[in-house]
Amino acid sequence: MAERSQGAALSPADQAIMRDLLGADRERTLERVASLTRDWDAIVQSAALVATDDEHDPEGSSTAFERAHVQSLLDQAQSHLADLDTAMERLNDGTYGVCERCGRPVAVERLKVRPAAKTCITCATARR
Ligand SMILES: [Zn+2]
Repeated sequence: MAERSQGAALSPADQAIMRDLLGADRERTLERVASLTRDWDAIVQSAALVATDDEHDPEGSSTAFERAHVQSLLDQAQSHLADLDTAMERLNDGTYGVCERCGRPVAVERLKVRPAAKTCITCATARR
């Protein structure tokens, strides 16, 4: 007999819902990456334009700050994208919705709010 249901926390209906949510989240995240990349390019370009006049440019340091800020947002968005891809793979191989720390099912309510969540709420809050 099939053992594939072992550990599967979600009903087929919930799996279908999660697939949609993951897909929607992925689209939003891709748009975010694209928009942040445009911001990044704009900052780099404007920095290149003022580079020759750097010491007279009062915005030199704020440009560096802005660049670091956009970079960190971009990192976050890309790591979220990777999490979504992992979640999608787990959905396909039947391990989605199982906490990767304790192996217990993650509450569907939590997954609907955070489709890329890898751990249950207990493990997530216990994390230091
Ligand atoms: Zn857990």
